[in-house]
Amino acid sequence: MESKQLKIHNSLTRQKEVFKPINPPFVGMYVCGPTVYSDVHIGNVRTFVSFDIIYRYLKYIGYKVRYVRNITDVGHLEGDADIGAEDKIAKKARLEQLEPMEITHRYTLGFHEMMNTFNTLSPSIEPRATGHIMEQIEMVQDILDNGFAYVKNGSVYFNTVKFAESNDVYGKLSGRKIEDLFSETRDDLKHQDEKNHPSDFAIWIKADENHLMRWNSPWSVGFPGWHLECSVMSTKYLGKTFDIHGGGSDLKFPHHENEVAQNHGACNAAPAKVWIHTNMLLMNGRKMSKSDGNHITPVELFTGDSTHITKAYSPMIVKFFMMQAHYGSTLDLSDAALLAAEKGYRKIMEANRTLQQLVYEGAEALNDEDTEIQALMNGIFVDMNDDFNTPQALAKAFGLVNKINSFKDGHIALNSISRRTFEKLQYIFTAFLFDICGLKDETLNSEESNGITDELMQLIIELRQNARGNKDWAMSDKIRDSLAGIGVQLKDGKEGTTWIKS
Ligand code: AMP
Ligand code: ZN
Repeated sequence: MESKQLKIHNSLTRQKEVFKPINPPFVGMYVCGPTVYSDVHIGNVRTFVSFDIIYRYLKYIGYKVRYVRNITDVGHLEGDADIGAEDKIAKKARLEQLEPMEITHRYTLGFHEMMNTFNTLSPSIEPRATGHIMEQIEMVQDILDNGFAYVKNGSVYFNTVKFAESNDVYGKLSGRKIEDLFSETRDDLKHQDEKNHPSDFAIWIKADENHLMRWNSPWSVGFPGWHLECSVMSTKYLGKTFDIHGGGSDLKFPHHENEVAQNHGACNAAPAKVWIHTNMLLMNGRKMSKSDGNHITPVELFTGDSTHITKAYSPMIVKFFMMQAHYGSTLDLSDAALLAAEKGYRKIMEANRTLQQLVYEGAEALNDEDTEIQALMNGIFVDMNDDFNTPQALAKAFGLVNKINSFKDGHIALNSISRRTFEKLQYIFTAFLFDICGLKDETLNSEESNGITDELMQLIIELRQNARGNKDWAMSDKIRDSLAGIGVQLKDGKEGTTWIKS
């Protein structure tokens, strides 16, 4: 049956392929994690939320997944260069006069906190680049021994020309022609003369005297190239060839292309069978960019403290918004889209609460409804099996929302579907929302609330509105300040007053 077969778009072949794990029921999945030199931005969050849903779905359909997501804490240079630029983490440490480890510790904690806020599951292993320097040195040696690298002045370079001559791998993943790759150069000219060819890239870099993070190696006191950590850690924890490798589409080149080259160079094997690339988050139709102000942070979204939005949006609303697009398409963040997501999120959560409270009574009196509901439920899995198509699956879930609301209003009698279908509906609807999509019902689940906090807050907001209407500013201020005293912030906006827990 079609719905039973998971298909994944493989960026390596540019085809949707039936997913066949190397060693079922086990699945190995490696996803490039964050470079921990600054707060995680909402674009990063989109990528990790997409892979969280992929991870959750693979587990849901029965695979035993080892999900490895690294922390990049060394070697990622400014502008994604491989030499001649400063290490992003070292730069931050220099500017803030802190140890590099203080920087990586702070932003790793922040990253984890944000991943928890978005209710994503922890990966099975979260290895760090600095914890695998020995293994990286070994891989550099293997590449040298196999003749695909050379040493110049204490740095080691991957020989792309020789690699390209020996097989047709280089350029395949990123879809770049070898000639174009060879004419492109991304590096500062300072080190270019050390390279035999501009497209060669550094796999070990000799540290200059100011460089903070440095290790002994057979070639120099230095540090590993950025791409190396992922080749090493994926091989160490998942084997030479594993099932899935993922990351944002901006990593295809040079990061992933060079990773593939290194794995072939060291192990004579392709790292992953399937490559999944998630697409970028835009804002108001343009690339998010700090420098031109077209930018919003997750915290600004949660507090509403930004000129780009009219009100605050909770983490689950932002997550729900992210699921409205397929992971492979760009997603445009705008206030209108978030408002629509808020409506949809509330509607679907309410429908779930209604569904769980419905009580099946009376004898079964089956009609077409039963078949329709079965088809919608099945459709969720057909869509998820079609390259994790969350927007399509959500459309089916909204089809079910209409049915649930009709049951509630009495427009459709509950016993017009079988008891079995009803129980399945209760199970599947919850499983889809919470286990597969990783959503939470914020009104129900927030620790202190038990569902009534929001209603109480609406009452307090109304009392404050009344006070303001009566020009009782002292009372209105007292309410706002007292709430602030217990960590609740009120936000007055165009759409009325909202509240957040700070
Ligand atoms: P970085 O911390 O820069 O190494 O990025 C961590 C992950 O976030 C990578 O997989 C990137 O591809 C991804 N990423 C970066 N910017 C965006 C964006 N605007 N939208 C979606 N994903 C992004
Ligand atoms: Zn990586």
